[in-house]
Amino acid sequence: LVEAVGVRKSFGHTEVLKGIDLEVERGEVVCLLGPSGAGKSTFLRCVNHLETIDAGRIWVDGVPVGFRSANGKLYELREREAAHQRRDVGMVFQRFNLFPHRTALENVMEGPVQVLGRDRAEVRAEALALLERVGLAEKASSYPAQLSGGQQQRVAIARALAMKPKLMLFDEPTSALDPELVGEVLDVMTSLAREGMTMIVVTHEIGFARSVADRVVFLVDGAVVETGSPADVLDNPRQPRTRQFLAKVL
Ligand code: ATP
Ligand code: MG
Repeated sequence: LVEAVGVRKSFGHTEVLKGIDLEVERGEVVCLLGPSGAGKSTFLRCVNHLETIDAGRIWVDGVPVGFRSANGKLYELREREAAHQRRDVGMVFQRFNLFPHRTALENVMEGPVQVLGRDRAEVRAEALALLERVGLAEKASSYPAQLSGGQQQRVAIARALAMKPKLMLFDEPTSALDPELVGEVLDVMTSLAREGMTMIVVTHEIGFARSVADRVVFLVDGAVVETGSPADVLDNPRQPRTRQFLAKVL
């Protein structure tokens, strides 16, 4: 479903992604691990068109994304396509960024109603079902400020799912949460994975990676250092950089 080949990205003179190759099959869950500054967020942002790439190619479901042309003109043309393609990719960030003046239900309904122009009543029924799925049926009319961090993050997941994405990207979705709230969010992500959602998850939750990931990719300094099954990478890391990192987070 996702294929990245030789993806490079620089900010100014700093090359942040130095030729990333990554393939994600439909239904696969890939956990992206690595130290701060490795380029994990930047890579996710490239997959979701939030950044353009300087070299290499990324395809999502066979459609090339995120390339930049030298003359800028082609890029303008692609902006509309980019917006279109972004709908197929759900993204959940560390910070929940819900609309503060909208209820949980309204937050979940926003995309399908505003972006897709779908029928409100139909979207409302689906949104309620999604809130139920993330365990928040009774919080439909609460505002974000009335919800805990874990609840807000579950609303954010429901909101992403409301667009019926082909792919879900998670960027440290539990890092901003109090420890006791991490589990409820990981549970929702685990059931999503079990239902066959294709996911790329940046996380420091090694337990989650071990039990849910089909594959773990370890990124350091803009390059993939090691990739393999969770058992291989987490329990038998071959690269010294991977061992060092795991020694710190485990
Ligand atoms: P963390 O674990 O801390 O979230 P990360 O692996 O997600 O780290 P990125 O956020 O992708 O790392 O950042 C990679 C590098 O790119 C960092 O050195 C960062 O300072 C730099 N960077 C990211 N975004 C920008 C930007 N918009 N402009 C300039 N530099 C940036
Ligand atoms: Mg990051």
